[in-house]
Amino acid sequence: MKVVLQDLTKKFKSRDKKGKGEVVAVDHFTFEIPDGELVGLLGPSGCGKSTTLFMICGLQKPTEGRIFFGEDDVTELPPENRGVGVVFQNYALYPHLSVLQNITFPLENLKGKDKLTKDEMKEKAMEAARLVQIEKLVDRKPGELSGGQQQRVAIARALVKMPRVLLLDEPLSNLDARLRLQTREEIRRIQKETGITTVFVTHDQEEAMSISDRIVVMKEGVIQQTGRPQEVYENPVNLFVARFLGTPQINLFEGRVEKGQLLIGEEAVLSVRGVEDQPVTVGIRPEGFLLREDGPLSLDLVRVEVMGRDISVVSTSAVSINPTVRSIIDAEMRLQVKEKKVCFALRPSKVLLFHKETEER
Ligand code: ADP
Repeated sequence: MKVVLQDLTKKFKSRDKKGKGEVVAVDHFTFEIPDGELVGLLGPSGCGKSTTLFMICGLQKPTEGRIFFGEDDVTELPPENRGVGVVFQNYALYPHLSVLQNITFPLENLKGKDKLTKDEMKEKAMEAARLVQIEKLVDRKPGELSGGQQQRVAIARALVKMPRVLLLDEPLSNLDARLRLQTREEIRRIQKETGITTVFVTHDQEEAMSISDRIVVMKEGVIQQTGRPQEVYENPVNLFVARFLGTPQINLFEGRVEKGQLLIGEEAVLSVRGVEDQPVTVGIRPEGFLLREDGPLSLDLVRVEVMGRDISVVSTSAVSINPTVRSIIDAEMRLQVKEKKVCFALRPSKVLLFHKETEER
């Protein structure tokens, strides 16, 4: 089931005390989610991710724009008639009901020809429980489960009616790091197995990059960029996207282009043919630095952090915009330090130039 979001806009009355003005939470959001894909909606807190998700599930009505599931215009439909399954951050399970009863719950109120017998309900609930691998826990109460198991119950409950679209709002935020990783892989597996078109909201770029077929990066209600995670990482359209994606963050330097050469400080660090002479902001991904004794970019070493296969070299420079520069180097490389300086050459594909004023590429 493809999902088409057409010019979606949501305005709220401002929450400030005077009650004046309005907030444009989502601003002309247009995007098509291909059938069977998992799309990550990504951006900092307050950028409009949840509002977009709520409009898709029907809990918020768009101020403008339309929503289609396949050819079906669902813009005016209430949530229960849209065929969506929703999972929230806080699981929202009924504490006094067993796991099985929690999963069965959405089936209880089916009417007319959709009405199920008790046995049919149980069978469907067990099927959903098996899908998320909690079939051995169905007689317990939610309070007797770990956070990760509770979230699986919530996912089973969202899947029990085999929704047309699955919506996940920060589903991993309440889990500790290890469970977060495990549950994220689990969600990916379930999504692949069922082939349900899925929207996954998160502020965590690593989470979105690892789980999504496609990501949508938002800022202040506006889509900045959409694409495959790797594409967007390698080719961000502006400084905001470049900084938002990647750990450690992209390193920024003041630079300028002169006669086909990129200068950082007074050193020509790379040739950049076809770019007009101008001041630029230079973004260098941590993996873009190559240790070279005679490399043109010389930085002041602060410390070296060993991270298993790689080492992270932390340095500073008067021409760097961030207080420190982080580069990731193969641990096999020998670090040559002369008078506390380390020298690097740069991998051209990992160096991104942004216009000083517009912050665009
Ligand atoms: P995110 O999910 O990315 O953190 P939200 O969609 O929750 O962002 O919010 C987007 C913007 O809309 C924020 O500025 C938020 O304060 C505002 N907003 C969200 N819901 C309401 C509401 N019910 N009333 C007023 N403002 C709201």
